[in-house]
Amino acid sequence: MNTKQHFRLAVIPGDGIGKEVIDEGLRVINHLEKSSNGKFSFETDYFPWGCEYYLENGKMMAEDGLEQIKNHDAIYFGAVGFPNVPDHVSLWGLRIAICQGLDQWANIRPVEFLPGVESPLNHPDRDHLNWVLVRENTEGEYSGIGGRNFTGRGPGKEVAVQSSIFTEEGCERIIRHAFELARTRKRKKVTSVTKSNAQQYGMVLWDEVFERVSKDYPDVETDQWLVDAMAAQFVLHPEDLEVVVASNLLADILSDLGSALAGSLGIAASANLNPDRKYPSMFESVHGSAPDIAGQGIANPIGAIGSAALMLENLGLQNEAELINKAIRETTKEGLLTADIGGKNSTKEVTDGIISHLSKIH
Ligand code: ATP
Ligand code: MG
Repeated sequence: MNTKQHFRLAVIPGDGIGKEVIDEGLRVINHLEKSSNGKFSFETDYFPWGCEYYLENGKMMAEDGLEQIKNHDAIYFGAVGFPNVPDHVSLWGLRIAICQGLDQWANIRPVEFLPGVESPLNHPDRDHLNWVLVRENTEGEYSGIGGRNFTGRGPGKEVAVQSSIFTEEGCERIIRHAFELARTRKRKKVTSVTKSNAQQYGMVLWDEVFERVSKDYPDVETDQWLVDAMAAQFVLHPEDLEVVVASNLLADILSDLGSALAGSLGIAASANLNPDRKYPSMFESVHGSAPDIAGQGIANPIGAIGSAALMLENLGLQNEAELINKAIRETTKEGLLTADIGGKNSTKEVTDGIISHLSKIH
C-alpha cells in the first residue's frame, strides 16, 4: 500500500465536458483534503493537452508529454474529442498514447446501479446490481498495425488491413488481474469474453491462457462466453455478472452497454492501471467530450467523481474512496440528478449535493 500522504496529481482536463467534470471531481477531492486535518494533501499540475492544443500545435500533447507526467502519483483525465478533429487522431494522440506509453495495461470499469436513477433495465434487484469490466488496455484490436490501400488498386477498390495483437504475456497479466480482483469481491467469479469462434488466432490464445490461469484459482468460479451472447446476457441476466474480463475492443463495447443499462454513460467511472506501479495510473470517466452538451453546465459529474474515488483508492485512501461512493448514492437517492438520468439539476448542483452528503457522513 502507498503510505505517502502528499500526492502530486497530473490533471489533463482535455475537451468539451471533460473540462467541466474534472473541475467537479477536484472540488470533491479538495473538500476531503480540507476535512482530513492534514492527514493527506494534493498538489495539482495542469496540462492543457487535447484538441485545442492540437489545432494550435499539430499534436495532441507536448513532444515530451509522457516525461512530464510519468513521475506524478496519478493522472486525472477529462475527455478528448472535437467535432473538427478526427476521433482516431484525438484518441491515439493522447489517451491511447498515455495508456500504452505508461503501460496502463488494466482498464477497470465498474458498472454500478444507483438508487433513484432511471434505467432501461427492468430487473427486480436493480438497485443492487453491480459488476466490473476488466479491459485489456495496451494491445488486442488497438495494436495500431495495418494500413490503407494495400493493393494499390485505387478509389472504390481500396483494401484496408487492421491487425490485432494478442501476446501470451499480455493475456496472462490481464486475466490474472481479473482473478485477483474477483478474490476481493463477495462473489468470486470471473467471466471471460472473446469471439474465438470467428477470430481464430489471438482469441483462441486468450481462451487457452484463461483456462490455464483459472487452474491457479480453484476458489474462483469461471465461465467463458462469446461476445454476442454476452451482450444479451448483460440485458437478460446481469445478476450472473461479477468480474468480466475481455480484450481492448470487446470490453470497450460492453462497458458502454453496461453504463447505458445503469442509466447513462455519464455515471460510469474508470481506472487505467499500471498495476506494477512503475508508472502512474490514469483515472477518467468512460464518456467522451460530448460536444452536444458542452458549455451548458448540465453534464453529469458522477462518472468523473467516481473516477476520483477510484484514484483515491489507488493512492491508498480507501476510506475516502468509500465515502465518495456512499455520498454519490445518497445524492441520487435524494433525487439530485442531471438531465441524462432523468433529472433537471445542473452539474454544479449535483456536486454540491455530493459534497454536502460527504460533510454529513464524514
Ligand atoms: P467523443 O467523440 O469525445 O467520444 P461523443 O460525441 O462520442 O464524444 P460521448 O461523450 O461518448 O460523446 O457520449 C455520447 C452521448 O452521451 C453524448 O452526446 C451525451 O449526450 C451523452 N453523455 C455522455 N457523457 C455525459 C455526461 N457526463 N452527462 C450527460 N450526458 C452525457
Ligand atoms: Mg464517444
